[in-house]
Amino acid sequence: MKKLCFFFLVLLNLPLFAQDFSDKITLVLHGGAGTITRANMSPEQEKAYKTVLNSALEKGYAVLKNGGTSVQAVEATIHVMEDSPLFNAGKGAVFTNEGKNELDASVMEGKTLKAGAVAGVTTIKNPISAAIAVMEKSEHVMMAGAGAEKFAKQQGITIVDPAYFHTEARYKALIKAKEADKTELDHNSREEQKVKAAPKTGLQRDEEVIFTEGRKFGTVGCVALDKFGNLAAGTSTGGMTNKKYGRIGDAPIIGAGTYANNATCAVSATGHGEYFIRSVVAYDISALMEYKGMPLKEAANEVVKKLVKRGGEGGIISLDRDGNIAMPFNSEGMYRGYIKNDGTREVLIYKD
Ligand code: ASP
Repeated sequence: MKKLCFFFLVLLNLPLFAQDFSDKITLVLHGGAGTITRANMSPEQEKAYKTVLNSALEKGYAVLKNGGTSVQAVEATIHVMEDSPLFNAGKGAVFTNEGKNELDASVMEGKTLKAGAVAGVTTIKNPISAAIAVMEKSEHVMMAGAGAEKFAKQQGITIVDPAYFHTEARYKALIKAKEADKTELDHNSREEQKVKAAPKTGLQRDEEVIFTEGRKFGTVGCVALDKFGNLAAGTSTGGMTNKKYGRIGDAPIIGAGTYANNATCAVSATGHGEYFIRSVVAYDISALMEYKGMPLKEAANEVVKKLVKRGGEGGIISLDRDGNIAMPFNSEGMYRGYIKNDGTREVLIYKD
C-alpha cells in the first residue's frame, strides 16, 4: 500500500521530475542569404554585420541563460536585427514596387504547436512582437494589414510612422530594380545578361527583376532551445525589393518560412519566398524527421538540395531538441551564427 501511495505521489509530481535541458540551451540566428561574397564585402561592412549578429546572439542567449523561454529568446534576438538598418526586417526593410515598406513576420512554439503571424504591415516597429501577440493573445494564427496593426496597437505594441522604415540604401535598391526593368527593353543590361546566362530558374519576368537585383535576402530569423526543452522559431522580413503591392512571402507562412515542433526541430528560412512557399520548406524538414526518422542535418540538407533543383535560392537555420544545428544554404553566403551552452559560438557569413 505504501508503495502504491508513493507511486501516485510521484505521478502527481511529474513536473518536478521533468527533464532539465539547462545543459542543452542553444540559440541559432540568420540575417539573410544571397550573393554575399568576400569580393563584394568591405572589411568595414563585414565588421558592422558581425557586430550586430554578435549582439543579437548575446541578447537572445542571455534570455535563455536567465531561465527565459525559447519564444522570449527568439523575440529578443530578432529585435536587435529588426532595429538595425543592415537587415531587411524592421528598420532597413526593402521597398515594394509602390515605394512602401510592407513587413511580414511569424513565430511558432514547439511545445504547443501554437503559431502567430502578421503580414503586409507598415506601422509596427517590431513585427515579431506582433506575431507573438497574435499567437499568445488571439484565437488566430495570421492577421494582415490594417487589422493586424489595429490588434498590435490594442496589445500595446510600438507603432511608428511608416517613414521610420525608410533607409536611403534600400530606396536606391528599389530605383535600381526599377531601372533594370526598363533596361530590359534594350536587352543590353548586364543584369539582364546574367539572367540569360543563368541556369533556367523557371521565374516569371517580374520575379527575375527582383531576383537579379535583390540577390541578397536580408530576412532575419532565430531558432532556440530553452532549459525546459522547448523549441521555438521566428522569422521577420521586409520581403523582396520591388515586390508587387500586397505580395506576401514565405516568412509569415507557418510551414514555409517558419516551423517548430518539440518532436522534431525548429526552422527559420531566408531566400526567394515563392519557392519556399511552394516547397513548404520548413515543414518538409520536420516531416522528414517525423515520418522517416531522419537526423536533422540529413533532413535539412535534403530539403535545401531539392530546393536547388526547383530553382529556389536561399537557406535555412534549424535546431533539434538535442541541440544539434544545421544551417544549409545554396546561395553564395548567409549571415548566420549560434551559441551553445558548452561555450561554442560562431558567426559566419561566407560559404567557405
Ligand atoms: N524570404 C523572404 C521573402 O521572400 C525574403 C528574404 O529571405 O530575404 O519575402
